[in-house]
Amino acid sequence: MGMFDRKSVLVLGGSRGIGAAIVRRFASDGAVVTFTYSGSKEAAQLLAAETGAKAVATDSADRDAVIARVRDSGPLDVLVVNAGIALFGDALDQDADAVDRLFRINIHAPYHASVEAARHMPEGGRIIVIGSVNGDRMPVPGMASYALSKSALQGLARGLARDFGPRGITINVVQPGPIDTDANPADGPMKDLMHGFMALKRHGRPEEVAGMVAWLAGPEAGFVTGAMHTIDGAFGA
Ligand code: NDP
Repeated sequence: MGMFDRKSVLVLGGSRGIGAAIVRRFASDGAVVTFTYSGSKEAAQLLAAETGAKAVATDSADRDAVIARVRDSGPLDVLVVNAGIALFGDALDQDADAVDRLFRINIHAPYHASVEAARHMPEGGRIIVIGSVNGDRMPVPGMASYALSKSALQGLARGLARDFGPRGITINVVQPGPIDTDANPADGPMKDLMHGFMALKRHGRPEEVAGMVAWLAGPEAGFVTGAMHTIDGAFGA
């Protein structure tokens, strides 16, 4: 018997990186896991075969597709919204459509997915959104849209915690610092700059983030809601 034995879990954006570690963690703890992917069909199929989780294609930039996916996967015990993208470069040069697409994936999808999940969740349901320490601290230029999107999740969690609390549903944000994934490789060109901001001079591992997500979804975290949980080697301290 795992900690999440037969619990129904949906991970939005689970094919790679932190999301894949979250899928592995819940699957190994006995949950019935569905995860979405968009561009990485092969990685999604491999992860599904490895874990027994179900992979489904859903573009987080498509609001109605996200809502339908959450509705069709429910009732959920746990929703994890992990899918997120970053844009780099001078704000004055960035394409407005690309910025709006980032907002759809990083802000709109977490909001609509959380609301739709809560409609059908039983008491004790858990919603966990993957934000970023950049929601608190943005020490370099060129990432304003990303920082904005991750700050927005703080308001999302604080506000929806009030709406969902009477039904015993919690919502929390996990805010990683640099984590070793395709989006931010531990041996990438930015590593020395990032490690310079940190007390622990290394990238975190996706499994470390998955551990925090599992704790928030588990029985010890029933009194934790509307809160930000930073896991960043003191990047933001
Ligand atoms: P990766 O780029 O390695 O993986 C991103 C995941 O999100 C993939 O599974 C990808 O699926 C999915 N995804 C992206 N866009 C969409 C979309 N439109 N629809 C559906 N799924 C999508 O990123 P990380 O694992 O590094 O990041 C995961 C989350 O953690 C993000 O929200 C990110 O902002 C956050 N984060 C990451 C940090 C880091 O240093 N790595 C630090 C702080 C926060 P697919 O490939 O199939 O499209």
